Amino acid sequence: MQNQDNAANKLHSEIKERSGQDFYNCIQCGKCTAGCPVISAMDLLPREVLLCLQMGEEERLLGSKTPWICASCFTCGARCIKDIDLSRIMEAIRAKILRPRGATCLSPGEIPKELLEKLPQQALVSGFRKLTR
Ligand code: SF4
Ligand code: SF4
Repeated sequence: MQNQDNAANKLHSEIKERSGQDFYNCIQCGKCTAGCPVISAMDLLPREVLLCLQMGEEERLLGSKTPWICASCFTCGARCIKDIDLSRIMEAIRAKILRPRGATCLSPGEIPKELLEKLPQQALVSGFRKLTR
């Protein structure tokens, strides 16, 4: 139990520092989730992202595709009754995953061949500009 508390505290400081948002203020009302336009593609709902952070469920959170699906549309932040900007928290989670990987966060070998054939070239070029040295 103490280990779980320590993990939750560490995650809290890290995400709070990166996002400027305090996810412990979330009361799980679900208004953010009700307004999110891309929840059908998410494996964790926006309010569940907050719940994972509150519970210190780091592995579940970092393994989720939700932070990558988030379109940073800011609807959740506009609807939140506690003024939590969830899009900044999603950004902080993505940064937590990407930064330890160094300057090159995406290498061509990591993209499945079938996806390479489907993605527009502009998306690929833009992705490599953003995620490689
Ligand atoms: S910012 Fe992300 S989580 Fe929030 S409503 Fe938009 S897509 Fe959903
Ligand atoms: S709207 Fe705000 S308080 Fe309600 S669940 Fe979403 S983040 Fe939490």
